[in-house]
Amino acid sequence: MKQVKLVNPLTAYFHGTYDEQPQPVPGIQKKMKPQPDCGEKSYKGHNRLTGRKILVTGGDSGIGRAAAIAYAREGADVAINYLPEEEEDAKEVAALIQEAGQKAVCIPGDLSDEQFCQELVTKAYKQLDGLDGLTLAAGKQHYVEHIADLSTEQLRKTFEINVFSLFWIVKAALPYLPAGATIVTTSSLEAFQPDAALLDYAATKSAIAAFTHGLGKQLAAKGIRVNSVAPGPVWTPLQITGGQPQSAIPDFGKMTPLKRAGQPVELAGMYVYLTSDESSFVTAEVYGINGGVHL
Ligand code: NAD
Ligand code: MG
Repeated sequence: MKQVKLVNPLTAYFHGTYDEQPQPVPGIQKKMKPQPDCGEKSYKGHNRLTGRKILVTGGDSGIGRAAAIAYAREGADVAINYLPEEEEDAKEVAALIQEAGQKAVCIPGDLSDEQFCQELVTKAYKQLDGLDGLTLAAGKQHYVEHIADLSTEQLRKTFEINVFSLFWIVKAALPYLPAGATIVTTSSLEAFQPDAALLDYAATKSAIAAFTHGLGKQLAAKGIRVNSVAPGPVWTPLQITGGQPQSAIPDFGKMTPLKRAGQPVELAGMYVYLTSDESSFVTAEVYGINGGVHL
């Protein structure tokens, strides 16, 4: 009997102990050890997004970067948004999109600013010469153990970046999005099983799940589908920049049944599925990808 080479999920990706490695927010992926795997070397496209024009927020690093690389290799032109401090990571993503033979548009700016969110959409539409996909992966996560220590400033910023920007971007994009366009948001396992030290973040991620369910129903009549990915622990800059206490970094992800953190590339297929026509009967849905810690 001939057995094809199978991938053992326990050992398929890094499953050792991470070093503590604090960085200031938003963090530079290039400085992380080990490097998060966003599919730079491994993701193979299959023409599932030929000719599509997609805006990805948080596209410089982590999960958004994995989606951006995959979209380009599936044949889409991609605009990425990120913070100006992240230019170094963003340049690498732009080069990878171009290497895939697709157009890369870089639009840095702060999503907690409503006016910028509107400009972002207009610029993406103009520079991509159309817009038929939004992948909203930017996010802020900063752990605070006690609610008494949670500042109103952090509370406000977390909601502005994680929730308000979705409303602002979708409102600005609706006039451009044709029937068949797809919106993918990024919720979290935290929406369903909140950590005691992530109250503000978890509340935004619940809001994103509710937003996705409701918007999916609202936009169904226009033929626009809206879905969400709800990841568990994934090795990205978000975690080492205060998403977790540094003391939790060495064993990050070890609490999952698969006993390791996920790598961003392990989510790319889901973003591609939800953005492509393969998911044509799927809307208003939230999908977990979290190593066995189910939603
Ligand atoms: P990441 O740090 O690579 O990505 C987050 C991105 O958000 C940054 O690259 C940055 O460009 C962007 N961002 C933050 N503040 C911004 C602002 N004010 N304006 C514009 N952009 C801003 O980390 P990631 O883990 O890949 O995060 C991507 C998404 O996945 C986030 O929504 C996060 O909440 C979600 N998520 C991550 C995990 C995980 O374990 N890593 C788990 C569940 C959900
Ligand atoms: Mg980043």
